[in-house]
Amino acid sequence: MTEIDLDDLREELLQCRRCGICRNSVYEAKGFDGICPIWRNTSGFETSFMRGKIQVALALLDGTLERTAENAESLYQCALCGNCTQICAAEFHPAHIMETVRYVLNELPNESRDKIAESIKSVDNPYNEDPSSRRVWLEELGLNVPTSSEILYFVGCTSGLRIQNIAKNTALILNAAKTDFAVMENEPCCGSVMMRTGRMEEARENAEKVVDAIKATGAKKVIVSCAGCLKTLRKDYSEKFGIEMPEILHIVEYSKELLAENKLKLKSLDNIKVTYHDPCHLGREMEIYEEPREIIQAIPGVNLVEVNPNRNTAICCGAGGGLRSYDSDLSRKIAADRMKAFEETGAKTVVSACPFCETNLIAGSKLLDSDIEVVDVVDLLRRAIE
Ligand code: SF4
Ligand code: SF4
Repeated sequence: MTEIDLDDLREELLQCRRCGICRNSVYEAKGFDGICPIWRNTSGFETSFMRGKIQVALALLDGTLERTAENAESLYQCALCGNCTQICAAEFHPAHIMETVRYVLNELPNESRDKIAESIKSVDNPYNEDPSSRRVWLEELGLNVPTSSEILYFVGCTSGLRIQNIAKNTALILNAAKTDFAVMENEPCCGSVMMRTGRMEEARENAEKVVDAIKATGAKKVIVSCAGCLKTLRKDYSEKFGIEMPEILHIVEYSKELLAENKLKLKSLDNIKVTYHDPCHLGREMEIYEEPREIIQAIPGVNLVEVNPNRNTAICCGAGGGLRSYDSDLSRKIAADRMKAFEETGAKTVVSACPFCETNLIAGSKLLDSDIEVVDVVDLLRRAIE
């Protein structure tokens, strides 16, 4: 990580023109809700949306505001979703700057941030789960998958330890397409959440561990399930740490290639109406909007209806930026709000392409008592494979 010049950081924060567009006004005027999910799902105070968060950051940096957990709350009550950045006309990237502020002010008290970092350092995942259970889902599938190959499936902590259906269906798709692939014995966490919450030095050390582990598999191509893993391995490692990586692909990119090469034969699903949730890290950060939609639309019998807004101005599920562990009630409330919007499309299924989004949307669905199902693109694709 290059050293941060505090004067430059202040200068960037001062790019904010205090126009307040990032609150919600543009979309309200267009007749639908949304820019900042925090603003919409809290009391709506100034510090709930980016304009106020920037003022708090400046005051904490200058010392005019004491560096207490309470005063720092608004900095961590942000999903770093980047939607304010889409609408902001000033010459800066507010969500990225907020990540830098968290790094510079990483001595601010934040228990959830510290617990996650400790868990990644000690057991290689943010959930404090037994790392030896990483390949259990493969055993359950009965697939004989090696630990080294030119193509590596980097499962990720959420698919590997929490929503293993995503891992299983990914492996079954790769298997159906006759792709030889490996899964690591002891896969480390990519460290995304360390970066988002300001534990950048530990994230750099962790990145070195991940790179060594990937190298040991002999992989020339790495396939990931998680939008956060994608951004971290493909973009952050090189941009923040200067680390050269092999080719990193999200499973939607790889599946699109498999479909184009006719390696997957699809049967018709029973005339189902689905909608799609754009994960912030996949969409706004990596600009992958069309691949998941093309896969969904390639499945006969599936009718895709869009929720508004979508693509680069899609509303976050509320899980990102460490928010799910920092303020789980708010995170779930945002997810329930999203589920309400998905229900209004008339779809019976929400499809996402990120296990972390799926986890939170399911939590939101429970809170809302919704009967709409939440699945990953690979779940839908797997159902359609003959
Ligand atoms: S962050 Fe951008 S959109 Fe928001 S108040 Fe500042 S200049 Fe306006
Ligand atoms: S990054 Fe997202 S959650 Fe954070 S202030 Fe901007 S719109 Fe709100």
